[in-house]
This record gives sequence, structure tokens and C-alpha cells, in this order.
Amino acid sequence: MSKVAEYLREHIVGEVSTNTSARRFYSTDGSVFSVMPQIVIYPRSTDDIRKVARFSWQLAEKGKVVPITARGAGTDQGGAALGEGIVLVFPVHMNKLLELDTKKNFARMQPGINYRNFQDTIKTHNRFLPPYPSSVDISTIGGAVANNAAGSRTVKYGCTRDYVNGLRVVLANGELIETRRLSKRELNHKKGLATFEGEIYRQIDGLITDNWDLIHSAHKDVSKNSAGYDLMDVKRSDGSFDLTPLFVGSQGTLGIITEIELAITTNNMNRSLMVAGFTSIDQADSVVQDILKLKPATVEMVDYHLLEFINKHYPNQLKGLLEPPFPKILLLIEFDDFGKSIQAKKIKKLSKILRNVTNDFQVSTDYDEREELWKIRHSAAAVIAHTEGTKKSLPIIEDGVVPQEKFQEYVHGIYELFKKYNLDVAVWGHAGNANLHMQPILDLAEVGDRQKVFKIMDEYYQMVIQLGGSTAGEHSDGRLRAPYLPGLYGEEIYKIFEATKKVFDPWGTLNPGVKLGVTREDQKRMLRNEYNMDKLGIYTTRM
Ligand SMILES: Cc1cc2nc3c(=O)[nH]c(=O)nc-3n(C[C@H](O)[C@H](O)[C@H](O)COP(=O)(O)OP(=O)(O)OC[C@H]3O[C@@H](n4cnc5c(N)ncnc54)[C@H](O)[C@@H]3O)c2cc1C
Repeated sequence: MSKVAEYLREHIVGEVSTNTSARRFYSTDGSVFSVMPQIVIYPRSTDDIRKVARFSWQLAEKGKVVPITARGAGTDQGGAALGEGIVLVFPVHMNKLLELDTKKNFARMQPGINYRNFQDTIKTHNRFLPPYPSSVDISTIGGAVANNAAGSRTVKYGCTRDYVNGLRVVLANGELIETRRLSKRELNHKKGLATFEGEIYRQIDGLITDNWDLIHSAHKDVSKNSAGYDLMDVKRSDGSFDLTPLFVGSQGTLGIITEIELAITTNNMNRSLMVAGFTSIDQADSVVQDILKLKPATVEMVDYHLLEFINKHYPNQLKGLLEPPFPKILLLIEFDDFGKSIQAKKIKKLSKILRNVTNDFQVSTDYDEREELWKIRHSAAAVIAHTEGTKKSLPIIEDGVVPQEKFQEYVHGIYELFKKYNLDVAVWGHAGNANLHMQPILDLAEVGDRQKVFKIMDEYYQMVIQLGGSTAGEHSDGRLRAPYLPGLYGEEIYKIFEATKKVFDPWGTLNPGVKLGVTREDQKRMLRNEYNMDKLGIYTTRM
């Protein structure tokens, strides 16, 4: 491998490291897995990335596969930011905002830009990028695009996918392409190119046309879905064509993104927040559909178990905000419509809806007070970071999403599962999307708990699939949920995913072992024997 590193050192401007400390640093991400890379590279330009890809392609042609994994902040919870070949670390150098146009409401940037920095910059122009993940402070825009990230405002504003106007992408052979929606005529021009890009357009168009009905029958009746490849939105019935939806959420398995153009939108800081308590999940569920009709910007939830957990372990976090006895479900519903009277009308309607089932609610329009109340929802971070000796809260079943009408059944199913394994449960997340988060507390140094990891995953993902949901609402498949893709979509669609991958990545150099082709044995081999998130969000040029 030192010869590969030597060659790359001579040909690219960014730093190339084979140092054990650098490799070890990038051998973990936000997941329960660990994979040691052979080379760590801090690219300085698109040219650097093109050269790395081209070299990796040439080596693969000669029978030596050195895979490439793009990496943002490494907060991925499914092991998608890990790879055994070259890890390309974007945030160190490729982190610039390249263009901001507040008249046309778009921004162009390099993938390694920190999400919070970007958000703070556009906030000064009264704009925001709505689908920000909870990890906004530490993660990158590139990671959000590659994962199709989403967050608390997705219920009104959609996922990252809905904001990507176009991309610049380095293909597996080092060619650089630009993606955006093309007319039928423009597509035909692309299909006529005698390049790898032309080959991709020809093959993907053929694949989608030949399997049109099958691809469209794979649609899941959920409000957000990051599992698999989004083939459905590539070709539209008007004949227009765009590869962008395929790259979004593809986790670096189809190409390496070097530039992103995003739509941004106007931000209203004057909002109204309603916090409502319910005595049962069924009672909360009975009003969610009516709440959604009011088009709120958030319908977030925490459950009783989370509140009890916080009260027991971190009592200061709820001090002055909420006292026991806690409601079984607490919803935080926010409106951000422009115009105070619109918000006031919606609050009035919401109060009427709530009064049918509960009197436990309060409204806040004051900024500081709202920020305080949001701390209740944000206290879920304490569960994620929780440690009990060598026991840790593990991200293994943290992102299922189900059809809204199955919400109640989903929560009951989660409680049953945790009860069966005698584990403390705490549930939080996006009630308005029926996309919930939970993390069992287990000890990866204990054989029994390691076995439980897989049993719990199998039962949980089976339940989500049976409810008609998706295994990944916003965190995508990675190495963790990849084995459940055939069960989720069926073998025929899975084969189409494999064919798609083959078109873009014939030699298997782009983040292999992510999304597709992961076995239980692979997972057992990668499973860490400890878990922590200590270095997430730290970008370093370890050499
Ligand atoms: C505490 C915590 C809370 C979280 N909350 C949320 C949440 O609310 N919503 C949500 O969606 N996710 C959430 N996540 C998951 C994760 O933080 C997000 O998906 C985030 O957007 C990933 O960004 P990143 O910079 O860390 O990417 P990474 O973890 O570095 O990478 C993620 C994927 O993107 C690929 N990638 C990165 N850069 C590129 C590139 N330039 N080209 C091609 N592929 C690339 C990687 O190969 C990998 O497959 C959370 C994670 C944690 C630890």
C-alpha cells in the first residue's frame, strides 16, 4: 500500500497519510462498527479527487481494488463513513461556501462545509436550509446530501433531497460531471457522449425504462425514506431526466460529490410553539392527523420513558420546565407561518383539537421561552451520550419510519421489543413523520449483549417492514441496515439497485460494503467491542 500512497503523494496537492494514528482515527464513525483504512487523504481540490479516483480505477483494472470512501464529519450511524482502502476527508480543506444568491435563493458550496457554519452564514441573510439534522453542529453538508438527511422541520419542508438543485460529481474513473434536471433533448445529447458519463446516461435510462412499473411499485407510503437508491425521481413522465436524486442518499457508492448547489428558503424567527402532554400514545395519536392538516413546521415528540430517564440521570435538564408525574407522550408543535394572525388562527384551531383529549398544553410565542421549552426535546441528546460503566446507548435501531396511520402500533411494538429484552426504553423523534429514534443500552464487551444486538435488529427491522415502513427514514442504510434492503424492497428491486451500482461502479471502488452486499458475518467482524462518540465532528489532519 505504501507504493499507492507514494504515487498519490507525488500526484496530488492534498496530504496523504498512512500513519497508524491517522488510520486509527478514521477507523470509526458514529456507528457501532470499525474498519481500518489503509490510506487517509485530505484532498485540496476536485483535481485531487479526480486523480485518486482515476488511479483507483486503473489499479482495479489490473485486479487490485483499493476502494475510496468519502468522509464528512463521520457522524454516520450506520458505518457508511468507514472504508478499508482510501478515506477522503473533506472538511479539512474542501469546506468553502462558493456562492450565495439571496435573490434566486440558492447557495453553492464544497461538501466539507460544516452544516452549522453554513446555516449561521445564511441566517444573517434571513435564510435557512430546512432539513438540518440534529447533528447540525458537527456534521457537514456533504454528509447530509450523501445521506439525504432530515430533521425536525422535515414534516413541513421535506428532506435534503428536496433542496439539491445540482451537483458536481467525480465518477469512479475520475471523470467530472455536473448533474441537474435535463430536458428530453439534453438527455439524448448526454446519451450520445462517447465517455463514461454517456455510458451511465444510456444504461440508467435503459434500466429505468425497462423496469418502470417495478420501480414505481416500490414506493413506500412513508413521509421520508433514505433506504436504497431513489430511482423513481430520475426520469419523470414528461421525459425529463436527472441523476441528482440518485447521488443524493447514495452514501458515496455511486460517485464522489465535490460541489453542491442547494436551494435555500426564507426563515421566520417569529414562531408559535405549543407543548402538549397526553396520557397515552393512543390519545396523542388520535390528534396527530388533525394537527398535520394545519401544516405545522414541527411535530416532535418525547415519551414518558425518556422524561423519566432524564429525570433520574440528568435531573437538572428538566428543572423549571417539567415536573413529574410526566405525560406518556409530549408533543412539541411549532408554526412558522409568516404573519402573526395566521399563526394565532392555527393555534386557536390546534387548541380546539387538543381540548377534545387533553387540557395539558401551553403556548409560547416568546423566543427565549420557546428555546427553553425546546430543551425538553433536545434532552434526547443525553440518552444518546449515556454511559453506564461499559454499557452505552447504541445506534442500531435508531431510524425506522412507518406510515402515519401505523404510528400507534409502531410505538407499542417498540415498547414490546424493549420489554422482551429487558432493556430500558426511551423514545423520541418526529411524530409528524412517524419516524422515531431509540437506542438500547448495551455492553459491546459482553458476548450476550453482542448477540442481542443482532437479535434486536432483526426483530425491529422486521416489525418496521411488516408495518409497511422503511428501515431508514433519514440516516440511510450504511453497513448497518444494508442486509435488510432485500426484505424491505423485495429481491427484484434489490437486483435493480445492484445493477445501478454496477453501472456507476463497475470495479467496486466506490465505498463497497455500504448499502449493498453486506452479510451478517461482515457485520460481526466489524462490530466494535466498545462504543463512544468522543471524536465525532473533530476534523483533523492527522499525519
Ligand atoms: C447524535 C447524532 C444525531 C443525528 N441526528 C440526525 C438527524 O436528525 N437526521 C439525520 O438525517 N441524521 C442524523 N444523524 C446522522 C448523521 O449525523 C447525518 O446523516 C449527517 O448528515 C452526516 O453528515 P457527516 O458530515 O457526518 O457525514 P459522514 O458521516 O462523514 O458521511 C455520511 C455518508 O456520506 C458520504 N459522504 C460524505 N461526503 C461525501 C462526498 N463528498 N461525496 C460522496 N459521499 C460523501 C460518506 O461516504 C457516508 O456514506 C445523527 C448522528 C448523530 C451522531
